[in-house]
Amino acid sequence: MSRTAELVISPFHGEHDHSHCQTKALENAIEHCQALGLKLTSLRKQVLEIVWGSHNPIGAYDVLQELQKKGHKPAPPTAYRALDFLVSAHLIHRIESLNAFIGCPSSGIAHQCQFYICTKCGHVAELNDGKIANALSDGANELGFESTQPVIEIHGLCRACQ
Ligand SMILES: [Zn+2]
Ligand SMILES: [Zn+2]
Ligand SMILES: [Zn+2]
Repeated sequence: MSRTAELVISPFHGEHDHSHCQTKALENAIEHCQALGLKLTSLRKQVLEIVWGSHNPIGAYDVLQELQKKGHKPAPPTAYRALDFLVSAHLIHRIESLNAFIGCPSSGIAHQCQFYICTKCGHVAELNDGKIANALSDGANELGFESTQPVIEIHGLCRACQ
């Protein structure tokens, strides 16, 4: 069977220059926000940078801590609103089962995704498999259900941790 899944986050394990990922994500975000007339304020940019600090998800509270380390003291709701903005701009994803956030490399494009979450090292790989997306929307149609953001989160062990 042919595989149509698009791997949007490579399963990196430290063996790469992550600053490239971070820089590219920021460049994409700036471009995307400009194109759509969205305001990428300096706080939102900082938050995006923090979420892109690694390929592991980060919780809202830790984002706040990181902001404080950088010398910012935004009120928690302000920081949380910045996270909400980035999620709605499709620049980051919220991983519900972990209550945490992760950067999305196909920034700005709304898509369904499947997250493969390593329970040992915390690494998250993102796949965007059209077959799964179609099956989900077929199911929803059958039920007369209107899904907002179908996301699948799969827990297990990554290749390196098996
Ligand atoms: Zn990286
Ligand atoms: Zn994504
Ligand atoms: Zn792992």
